[in-house]
Amino acid sequence: MMELVFATNNKNKLREAEAILPENILLLNLNDAGCEEEIPETATTLSGNALLKARHVAQNSSFSCFADDTGLEVEALNGEPGVYSARYAGEEGNADKNMDKLLHALKGNSNRKARFVTAIALILEGKEYLFEGSVEGRISEKRRGDGGFGYDPIFIPDGFSSSFAEMSPSEKNAISHRKRALEKMCIFLEERNQKA
Ligand code: IMP
Repeated sequence: MMELVFATNNKNKLREAEAILPENILLLNLNDAGCEEEIPETATTLSGNALLKARHVAQNSSFSCFADDTGLEVEALNGEPGVYSARYAGEEGNADKNMDKLLHALKGNSNRKARFVTAIALILEGKEYLFEGSVEGRISEKRRGDGGFGYDPIFIPDGFSSSFAEMSPSEKNAISHRKRALEKMCIFLEERNQKA
């Protein structure tokens, strides 16, 4: 059994990762690693922020760990809010305000194209590895559904008519940006395991 810390305080993300990672990985949280405080996300790229969070745990504990950072890139807004998705409508990171601001910014705009991108930084035995996953879709005209978190109620993935918030966790997990990035990390870990 391999112990791996997911450097997040977000319970939704932990639940998603638990459902995706193979059974031979025991997922731990920041609490388990003795690092409870919020880690500042001051980098200007998703992978930079993921690395900041992972390094914080690696430096303050003896665990292997990974961290993620996600951004919602909207084509009509030149890729915004992107790396600033969490703080789009202000420092407090309120999901409702963020969605309101985005819906307002796209009001009357027929180009609703958007994608979620997740960067994952993994630190294993002092070495750093990066993985990325994304899902293409569009921003709905208004909120739909009450599942998920963050921007889920206004994101409709390509090929579907429901928003992420209208899907069951397993439906979202089958196609999500985070799932795709986590999957790449899992493949890497499995290959590494086989070589050992
Ligand atoms: P972070 O990766 O936690 O920094 O998230 C950045 C922003 O994207 C926050 O506003 C999150 O709520 C949002 N976010 C991250 N993952 C998801 C997701 O799976 N669905 C919807 N919003 C997300």
